Amino acid sequence: MSKVLDMKVYYDKDIDTSPILTKKVVILGYGSQGHAHALNLKESGVNVKVALREGSKTCERVQKAGLECISFEEAVQWADVVMNLLPDTVHKEVYDKYIAPNIKSGMYLGFAHGFSIHYNEIIPPADVNTFIVAPKGPGHLVRSEYKTGRGVPSLVAVGQNPSGDTLEVSLAYAKCNGAGTAGIIETTFKNETETDLFGEQAVLCGGTSALIKAGFETLVEAGYPPEMAYFECLHELKLIVDLIYYGGISDMRYSISDTAKYGDVTRGPRLVTSETKAEMKKILEEIQNGKFAKEWIEENRKGQPNLKMMLEEDRDHEIEVVGRKLRGMMSWIKDAQLISSDER
Ligand code: NAD
Ligand code: MG
Repeated sequence: MSKVLDMKVYYDKDIDTSPILTKKVVILGYGSQGHAHALNLKESGVNVKVALREGSKTCERVQKAGLECISFEEAVQWADVVMNLLPDTVHKEVYDKYIAPNIKSGMYLGFAHGFSIHYNEIIPPADVNTFIVAPKGPGHLVRSEYKTGRGVPSLVAVGQNPSGDTLEVSLAYAKCNGAGTAGIIETTFKNETETDLFGEQAVLCGGTSALIKAGFETLVEAGYPPEMAYFECLHELKLIVDLIYYGGISDMRYSISDTAKYGDVTRGPRLVTSETKAEMKKILEEIQNGKFAKEWIEENRKGQPNLKMMLEEDRDHEIEVVGRKLRGMMSWIKDAQLISSDER
């Protein structure tokens, strides 16, 4: 174990896998994370099954991959460790219907994101252990890295710990999922949940899409062709993000022209001002005090009317219309879609 920036980081050599190899593990769901964890654990020698909704068509795919597929009730009756890799919005319903009635003392309930536990959507009995193993990457990467003998860095956290070995179980799980080659960082439910929500709201999804749209609209409203606004404000973002991803902000600045660098350092701070940062702090407070969670849980209870309406409003924003046309002209983009057209 080493300390990086005051966080505990575990690697393969620090972790004994027997706490997971001696247990029966069930993965709930076979989506992005579910399929990756199930296959990685199986290939690491774990006794693992996959649980799906009654009558799910995915069962065939699970069986083809050499895994057994069972119902949620059977899963909870059979397993020692239940890893919940269902969408966060269905955690409570599945927990109330299938997990709670079958839950056993000393069981381990795992998650890849802490929302439902941290905001008390799910309150397991005190004699049940809870943990997080959260890979910091999408499921397909968790799987493809494992296949090459590497892994995706992951967070682990322990919530309830009546058995006293929940950290060992979660580390063993993360190692069998491939994360020990890259590094496993120990955190808490609070920190995992709140930073994840803040990142997606302020920077990754919320901040980025608002910035792209505002830049595009500014050029178009000033009379520039939407096609050119699309290239400058959306298309080229990938190049910049790739540079930042591989080498930080400094590699990006190394690669761009001096004119771009000067524009970056003198104009960027005029956009993201102390006012913007004050709003970021408010967004963070709403995450910390549970206001966001309450609003989102309520929105789900009503069938997501506001979410649907706001997504609908953006679907035919000019940047999307012109984007669909321009991407159709770029063969390498057409051939490398991350989301297939029948999924959309
Ligand atoms: P997903 O949407 O890809 O898959 C969820 C699976 O759950 C589906 O494939 C299906 O098998 C099942 N399912 C869907 N709706 C259901 C319902 N109503 N009832 C029963 N089963 C249902 O989910 P995901 O993105 O893999 O997310 C799973 C968990 O992992 C979440 O807690 C998420 O926050 C977390 N996580 C995801 C990522 C990621 O990159 N996708 C990264 C880290 C953590
Ligand atoms: Mg997130």
